Amino acid sequence: MRFLFFLRLLDFFFPLLCGICGREDFFSLKIGLCKRCAYAARTSKPLYRCNLCSSPLSDAEKVCEFCDSRNVFFTKVLSLRDRNDLLGELLNKLKSNKEYPVSIFLSLGIRRALRELKTLDLDACILLPSYSKNRIFNSDLRPFSPSSRLYEETRRILRIPLVDPLMKTSPERQAGKSFSERFFHAYSAWEIKPDWKDRCPSHVLLLDDVFTTGASVNEASRILKKNGTKSVYVLTYLRVSD
Ligand SMILES: [Zn+2]
Ligand SMILES: [Zn+2]
Repeated sequence: MRFLFFLRLLDFFFPLLCGICGREDFFSLKIGLCKRCAYAARTSKPLYRCNLCSSPLSDAEKVCEFCDSRNVFFTKVLSLRDRNDLLGELLNKLKSNKEYPVSIFLSLGIRRALRELKTLDLDACILLPSYSKNRIFNSDLRPFSPSSRLYEETRRILRIPLVDPLMKTSPERQAGKSFSERFFHAYSAWEIKPDWKDRCPSHVLLLDDVFTTGASVNEASRILKKNGTKSVYVLTYLRVSD
């Protein structure tokens, strides 16, 4: 977290170059990508979205087929953007190089999303742990996890603590798995930490990089609810919508 603050300080002294092409213009200074790249990364806004997972819908049904056909444990998913190839590339960049301009661009719109969530009086937020070692607190390994900027803004606007009640029991990652594999894998991916058994906060915000099938957040939500949580809101940078 201190690292992020340090990077923000750097902003004042060094111009920000575009996180994709490296050019500098008015846009790159403000949002981390130049005008051309920001334009290329834009996604269209669908008219209707699923009430639960917010995936785009072609007409005004309330819930998508997917949410309608399974047990949904999360309350609502909000994503800052629908994923496209360029945005997916940006997220990978953020994961591998910790590129600061990219994190600015991917977080655009987060304040508005958080202000909407503010009315809900959430108790705590959780970064969905991606593997067993607690990577965001291990500053030697990784100065910031891709979602840490989501957390920084969440802390600033919602003023809720970060809690860490889940532990990952499977070292495998969801990426690279097929749709059905993800569900089977997610089912055994986490456990509740002994300290949090039956005493998870009532209303939580789960933060993650990307909402793909929802298998991970749904399973995490299931475990939290089994242990005292009443509602689980989810916020991610991106959602896969096709
Ligand atoms: Zn550019
Ligand atoms: Zn849905």
